[in-house]
Amino acid sequence: MRDPRYDVLFEPVQIGPVTARNRFFQVPHCNGMGYRDPTAHAYMRGVKAEGGWAVVCTEEVEIHPSTDVTPFVELRLWDDADLPALEQIATKIHEHGALAGIELAHNGLNSPNLSTRETPLAPAHLPVATWALDPVQARAMTRADIARLRGWHRDAVRRAVAVGFDVIYAYAGHVMGTLHHFLSRRYNTRTDEYGGSLANRARLLGEVLSGAREVAAGRAAVACRITVDELIGPEGITRAEIEDVIGMHGELPDLWDFVIGAWEDDSLTSRFGPEAGQEPYVRGLKALTTKPVVGVGRFTSPDTMVRQVRDGVLDFIGAARPSIADPFLPRKVEEGRLEDIRECIGCNICVSGDMTMSPIRCTQNPTMGEEWRRGWHPERIRPKGSDTRVLVVGAGPAGLEAAVALGRRGYRVTLTEAGRVLGGRVPREAALPGLAAWRRVVDHREQQLAKLPGVEVFRQSPMSADDVLGAGFGQVAVATGSRWRSDGVGRWHGRAIPDDGSLQVLTPDDVMDGARPRGRRVVLFDDDHFYLGGVLAELLAGEGHEVTLVTPAAHVSAWTYHTLELIRVRQRVMAAGVGVRTDRTALAIEAGAVRTACVYTDAEELLAADAVVLVTARLPEEGLYVELLAREPEWAAAGLLGVTGIGDCWAPGTIAAAVWSGRRFAEELDQPEPEGIGFRREVTALPQPEPARSLPLRTV
Ligand code: ADP
Ligand code: SF4
Repeated sequence: MRDPRYDVLFEPVQIGPVTARNRFFQVPHCNGMGYRDPTAHAYMRGVKAEGGWAVVCTEEVEIHPSTDVTPFVELRLWDDADLPALEQIATKIHEHGALAGIELAHNGLNSPNLSTRETPLAPAHLPVATWALDPVQARAMTRADIARLRGWHRDAVRRAVAVGFDVIYAYAGHVMGTLHHFLSRRYNTRTDEYGGSLANRARLLGEVLSGAREVAAGRAAVACRITVDELIGPEGITRAEIEDVIGMHGELPDLWDFVIGAWEDDSLTSRFGPEAGQEPYVRGLKALTTKPVVGVGRFTSPDTMVRQVRDGVLDFIGAARPSIADPFLPRKVEEGRLEDIRECIGCNICVSGDMTMSPIRCTQNPTMGEEWRRGWHPERIRPKGSDTRVLVVGAGPAGLEAAVALGRRGYRVTLTEAGRVLGGRVPREAALPGLAAWRRVVDHREQQLAKLPGVEVFRQSPMSADDVLGAGFGQVAVATGSRWRSDGVGRWHGRAIPDDGSLQVLTPDDVMDGARPRGRRVVLFDDDHFYLGGVLAELLAGEGHEVTLVTPAAHVSAWTYHTLELIRVRQRVMAAGVGVRTDRTALAIEAGAVRTACVYTDAEELLAADAVVLVTARLPEEGLYVELLAREPEWAAAGLLGVTGIGDCWAPGTIAAAVWSGRRFAEELDQPEPEGIGFRREVTALPQPEPARSLPLRTV
């Protein structure tokens, strides 16, 4: 049962004409599914509602073809044709008693309109402010354009109400919308009544909110999501200005949703910011309005949540990532099952779904995005299909997830781990600077294993093929992970980097095992491009080494662009004193130096070094898997039916991919081989054939 100290989180809260059943609020968040995967999207939102969130929102919804954020895949409400997909989302949310929220957006400068080819609209003539730096300029909006935009917003509100949405947002956040661009001096240099003074810059926001109220007419609440500090000083929106905006328009919406800066500031990873990191920016704003306020902060601790409410910071506990990692977080708090909460680790793999325009995935919750596609559920799984005994070899993220999910299905499972600690790569990486929260991947699963009597765990139990064949298991999952290569093979080099053997060479595994460069000068060659190269450079520089990070990419940790960390990674390695050489590859390892070359000109340069760290690629630890396959003729006598490689042992990837792979093994065990591709998808319906044209077209 619920601990009474959390009662406050379960109080109903009025949002204008509607009532939220508790204070748990899934704020709008992107998911890479949007209009392209509408049913998968609807089911994902439905699971959140089932998990107890009182309000479940969509991501941003483009209200007009002039706000087309292609290549990103968000939702659209350009006209009535988009309504069935949106209605399905609202319906799925309602099925579980939650309020459905929709975030209407006009992205203005943030929409290059690559698909619609409309001209982007902005307060002033400016290049679009997109991630991809598209070579597109926006036109300064005329008064007539502004009037039209207000009309589009009203139309979108009317349509959203018609299909059942209960909370209708106007989006003025994250530097992503026209309302934000009008508010910010950085973009609004107008000299008419929509520019200049704050009252003028906030005029459009006030008009749009009034219009939404009028159209919603008490059938739905109106919400405003707004950046409370653009984090660029007086050139952008400041906290003092937002206090004044709330002074002017504080009672216009039924709810305020406060965010910080741009998306990369608001969705900080755990490497760069703590839980409740937004609090200093948001504290005090609630007192300026009688309307309820929601804010985020990667909240996973119910005590922190209670404090936010008790201290008058927030009325609603907003969550995107914590609701992705654990859609059932509210229910677990309500049922007094705090130890079952799958806490978000703050890695932003979820964000990378949107950034790569692919369906959302989550490191902690492998069912995210698979609710409809594969029928996976974060809290339920089908019962076992046989009494076969299952052996899982290796307790990294893949093995742990497989063992937990199989245990829940009711299988008798033996999980063996060669080492003393469980978790494989996770606890090793979690010991590196900034990655401590990643331990939660292991902690959660260890805690769950303790509740599963059908799963036995054996530590310090390396398994050989003889051990496996002699143990009488029906199914074996080999989850033995991977090791970093020491030969430099990776994206740039298909063959080993020439190495005369005179320089100390370390891999990330060596460093994580405690080995250190013997001299002061270190060249770190990063051809992996995710976080590890940057993290190790930071670690070694922090320990007093003179580190030069060499990468063929244009950026340090280039893929962290997709986790919104790119700029902060660079800031951090610079602050740590790491020398950065981008657009450069390592050619050879020689006595006292690494020979490098510019990737454009081949111009060579020797970088003096006492040691080199190679962060390039990994090789699966597949010896056991390969041997078991080779000994297939012995399986029948051993009672063995199948051997499956999972996680990094199958193909090294992210921790999220390993967890997903473990889940997949568990989900699919004893399932009939799927007839088709194994998951559901939606394919664009072709239009009805058009009637023949009456007038032939002229050839020109
Ligand atoms: P993944 O990400 O695929 O889960 P990890 O590298 O994180 O892979 O974890 C693999 C785990 O498997 C490590 O903890 C390692 O100690 C363990 N392991 C490797 N080989 C064996 C083996 N033969 N028997 C038991 N455990 C093993
Ligand atoms: Fe949290 Fe990472 Fe899951 Fe996103 S992917 S919800 S940051 S654990």
